[in-house]
Amino acid sequence: MNTRRPSSSDTRWTIPEVYRRLRALRGDLHWWPGETPFEVAVGALLTQNTAWTHVERAIEALKAASLLSPEALASVPEPELAEVLRPVGYFRVKARRLKALVDFLIRCCDGDPRRLARWPVLEARQRLLEVHGVGRETADSILLYGAGLPIFVIDAYTRRIFGRLALLDPNRDYDVLRQAFEDALPRDVALWNDYHAQVVIHGKEVCRPRPRCGECVLASRCPGSPQTGSGR
Ligand code: SF4
Repeated sequence: MNTRRPSSSDTRWTIPEVYRRLRALRGDLHWWPGETPFEVAVGALLTQNTAWTHVERAIEALKAASLLSPEALASVPEPELAEVLRPVGYFRVKARRLKALVDFLIRCCDGDPRRLARWPVLEARQRLLEVHGVGRETADSILLYGAGLPIFVIDAYTRRIFGRLALLDPNRDYDVLRQAFEDALPRDVALWNDYHAQVVIHGKEVCRPRPRCGECVLASRCPGSPQTGSGR
């Protein structure tokens, strides 16, 4: 399915070229903030609609309360967990969702997200999506960064950057965009892991809501840059 916006320009980047540019700039980011696959899964859940800095504070609070383990999170009363999660906002909702995710991980995988890899990736994803409060971005983050399974993560940074680059329609369905990346790239977990990391960092530091196109390594072929296009 064609997910590109119609344009008369033939000088846009391709999806692999964007990665090569970003990687050449920053190197391999070895990214997902989390010391263990379980911490990765917890972070992926808590970061829904929340800045990562708040998630870091909540993770530290969980550690300080000796709650960052499957067993501890399964047994802590939900109201008590909600108080610990105050830094992330929507803390009551997230306490309920985190309890549901942890219950699932204990039942399916002895609390270890890496064991999700015993299923084919789409089957593991479907099981995660049946857990209360787990959407596609959260599920795919757990699968890619926690289980090491090949699935590309789409987030708001991806939509913003690739929409401005006129490579994708940012309003398309999540799975249409995910498939566009997976079709354009070799099926390589390490590459997909680092690609999403590069997108996040570029979206935070350069292609911000008010883009810093003068500092951007993609500006020469970006229709969203004032240097080359409409500057939208
Ligand atoms: S040139 Fe500007 S709009 Fe285009 S990707 Fe870079 S920062 Fe974003």
